[in-house]
Amino acid sequence: MKMKRILLLGGTGDALRIARQLGPEHVYSLAGLGKVPDDLACTVRVGGFGGSEGMARYIVDEGIDLVIDATHPYAAQISANAAQASRAARVPYWALHRPAWQPQAGDDWRMVGDWDELTDALAPFRKPLFTLGREPLAHLYEIPPHQFWVVRCLEAHEDTARARILAARGPFTLEGERALFALQAFDVLVSKNSGGQATEAKLEVARERGLPVVMLRRPELPAAEREFENVADLLDALQVAD
Ligand code: NAP
Repeated sequence: MKMKRILLLGGTGDALRIARQLGPEHVYSLAGLGKVPDDLACTVRVGGFGGSEGMARYIVDEGIDLVIDATHPYAAQISANAAQASRAARVPYWALHRPAWQPQAGDDWRMVGDWDELTDALAPFRKPLFTLGREPLAHLYEIPPHQFWVVRCLEAHEDTARARILAARGPFTLEGERALFALQAFDVLVSKNSGGQATEAKLEVARERGLPVVMLRRPELPAAEREFENVADLLDALQVAD
């Protein structure tokens, strides 16, 4: 299937792999929080559309004939907007939904739905490693007296007396994660269920060390006309090679 003009919504490594296969008529869209690639053949646009109505207008004005959502599984707002905007503009909406990680034998996952449940689940622990993105930065002054937090996220932020902020971007290697966990002696890991390999090593190290994982549940995502579990299948459907 050859599309004249694709709007690819990104912000993930998978989206970047798709973007690398697209020619100049196609558009790769980023929120603008992370790195903006400057070596792509396709057009790169940065920043929000102004909700689903703004995106629908963009789709029509730019003559887009397919929307591909390759955003992160926890970026639920942009996915809801994209599904709605595609419907309104009458173009197909495809989505890349990489499979969630599954607990393995011996894993101790404690599933939580929101920040309140998460802090309740963390109450018995002293030294969590947060790998949820920037959300914990908004709660640095609510850390219980018995806890010291280590927060790993993209944003640089000053340490506080009760928290250490590690600004880092994946992928993370097994060796690197082993070294970090050994050095910091975390007693619990806090994670989203992102799926994929880029950030999976922390789960393996938690397993090796017998650490519980407080796992934030995946949000509901809108249904898409076509859903793909991996980049290769999606590129096949577009008839471009990875
Ligand atoms: P979100 O809550 O779903 O989206 C918030 C707003 O950001 C959207 O309403 C939209 O603004 C804008 N936006 C998001 N993605 C965009 C894109 N690809 N192109 C243009 N505008 C976009 O998203 P989020 O959780 O803040 O994540 C932001 C971006 O980071 C996403 O693109 C996602 O793929 C990436 N990311 C997120 C996570 C995560 O854990 N959430 C992890 C890794 C990467 P308007 O309403 O104004 O259009």
